[in-house]
Amino acid sequence: MTTSMAHNPPKRCSKCNEFFTIPMHASVNTKKCKCNDIKEDLFIDMDGVLVDYDLAVEGLSEEEAIKTRRTPGFFKDLKPMENAIWGFHKLAQKYNVYILSTPSWSTPTSWTEKVIWTDRNIGSAAEKKIILCHNKGLFKGRALIDDRTVNGVEEFKGEHIHFGSEKFPDWKAVLEYLL
Ligand SMILES: [Mg+2]
Repeated sequence: MTTSMAHNPPKRCSKCNEFFTIPMHASVNTKKCKCNDIKEDLFIDMDGVLVDYDLAVEGLSEEEAIKTRRTPGFFKDLKPMENAIWGFHKLAQKYNVYILSTPSWSTPTSWTEKVIWTDRNIGSAAEKKIILCHNKGLFKGRALIDDRTVNGVEEFKGEHIHFGSEKFPDWKAVLEYLL
């Protein structure tokens, strides 16, 4: 054993059970294992959670709604849900937040437009944090905030926060629970 190890032996973290060494002359803030800096992953759906999809097709017949959502430009110009942008930024302070959205296969422009929407409405906090996927059950994290149970939501490895349900009717309720 070297002299420095004798004076500064590794400690086992009670949280992650890994050994860590406290740097010599460390301040109080750095006397912690690195796991304290790791944020949990959190996933957020787009349509019906971040994006007000229903508002854009309100009052339209099913046929008109299909035609409207297949029109290039539809997905990039949708309005955000009330408090959604504020909520995203609040959650991003505590969690490693990803957008997990299922794009429309029949509207290939939706793939590009979801990125454009995110860049316009959320900005750098969501840069390179978008996952477009048809099976949300492949992912694991603290929670998935989603307004539906389709596309693998029920198989997600973590808690499903059912947005729009009685327990989580809006963004305020979600933040009260997660922060
Ligand atoms: Mg949705």
